[in-house]
Amino acid sequence: MEEKLKELKNRLQEIYDLECASSVLGWDQNTYMPPGGGPARARQLALLRRLSHEKFSSPGIGKLLDDLQPYEESQPYDSDEASLIRVTRRKYEKAVKVPPSFTAEMARHGASSRNAWVEARPKNDFSMVEPYLEKSLELRQQLADYFPGYEHVMDPLIDYSDYGMKVSDIKLLFGELKKELVPLAEKIASQEPPDDSCARQHFPEEKQLMLGLEVAKRIGYDFDRGREDKAPHPFATRFSIDDVRITTRVLEDDVRGALFATMHESGHAMYEQGVKKEFEGTPLGRGTSSGVHESQSRLWENLVGRSRGCLSYFYPRIQEVFPEQLGSVPLETFYRAVNRVSSSLIRVYADEVTYNLHVMIRFGLEIELLEGNLPVRDLPEAWNEGYRKELGITPPDDKDGVMQDIHWYGGGIGGGFQGYTLGNIMNAQFYEAVLAAHPEIRSEIEKGKFSTLYDWLRENIWQHGSKFTTHELVERVTGGPISIEPLVNYLKTKFGEIYNLK
Ligand code: ZN
Repeated sequence: MEEKLKELKNRLQEIYDLECASSVLGWDQNTYMPPGGGPARARQLALLRRLSHEKFSSPGIGKLLDDLQPYEESQPYDSDEASLIRVTRRKYEKAVKVPPSFTAEMARHGASSRNAWVEARPKNDFSMVEPYLEKSLELRQQLADYFPGYEHVMDPLIDYSDYGMKVSDIKLLFGELKKELVPLAEKIASQEPPDDSCARQHFPEEKQLMLGLEVAKRIGYDFDRGREDKAPHPFATRFSIDDVRITTRVLEDDVRGALFATMHESGHAMYEQGVKKEFEGTPLGRGTSSGVHESQSRLWENLVGRSRGCLSYFYPRIQEVFPEQLGSVPLETFYRAVNRVSSSLIRVYADEVTYNLHVMIRFGLEIELLEGNLPVRDLPEAWNEGYRKELGITPPDDKDGVMQDIHWYGGGIGGGFQGYTLGNIMNAQFYEAVLAAHPEIRSEIEKGKFSTLYDWLRENIWQHGSKFTTHELVERVTGGPISIEPLVNYLKTKFGEIYNLK
């Protein structure tokens, strides 16, 4: 059995390395690649994805998994060995249903579509991306059809990123959350909004980048095993547990954007850096789902980063870096500015209360597109209608409307967006659990000590990589199922205080 397990690991290592090589190409594509590199890059990504898929779905892997089944059953469920075999089998059974040539086509199309978006967005020209979106939709529907018997066409797509979740569960959860968020947002909107002009001054890019790096290091992102570059849309990626990178984007007229985006991406990166070393080179060696991933990034960005305690620690340094802009601005004014709630156009810059409404609008549009009830050509108008209805604002153009970020234009429509709100729901659950175990964390953060929190997250969440499903992890960490209550309590308490709500 040991021989077979070793052989399985050797094969998985090669697949992992091919996947990481395509991640390097993807990282380069979004950071340094000149526009002319686009077509060749699409071809190269397609080749690597096809090769890794071919290797992973080969009968040899299937045979090893069959042979190892008795061994798996003889081991405890949560042992590393049983988990490796179980998780690999789950992924293998999905992989064999999809032809490698189709995976290659998706990769090629995703890269071409991304190139079209990069060109179309500054021109505010939706017609340039429309055919790509149509093709993406077609491919996503086709991908779902490799898994017949689904309840909803988006379920098999969600399964890739948030295994174990279905449209029906998510609709229920989102419906409950919306019932709480809308009245809260309305109550807040009836109050005088805090003055955030202190954050909207000129903040030179270079200094913002320096500050972001300092903060990322301080909270625990290990730069011996990471780095930061600039990109049109911030993201985190990893080439091994010891090489996990982030990117950022700076707005010179608003100090909040890069600072909190950097904390966000650092949260993703610390999760990947915190995975148990022994899982490297296997399907266990990465974060378990997009929801849990977002729970970690949003935890650092919001629950920690936008808290009064954390800002009271970092603010003197922020003032030191920007003395002209913030030297005479009191901490409380800055705290209220970074927690200003107002309907806005761009999801990634949205406040904690309205953010989930952005996600829900998009999740709803994805469902309509995939169900075939919304033609791609009507998408910009449907987008604007969603923003009018749910947030009370109308995007002035498609650039900051339907084309605002890369997600749909990387080829993926459906199966990704639920993760953002699931992450917000879970981050409040996880934070409640860690504060119950270590109430001293609040006062430690005020002093710039993040290690108790960091260690707890690594111990309870990060190190497990993909060993546990989202549901299993939430159950283990919080002792219960996914629940919106901690998030709702957190938002009501925090913003009730800031806005003097009764
Ligand atoms: Zn994220």
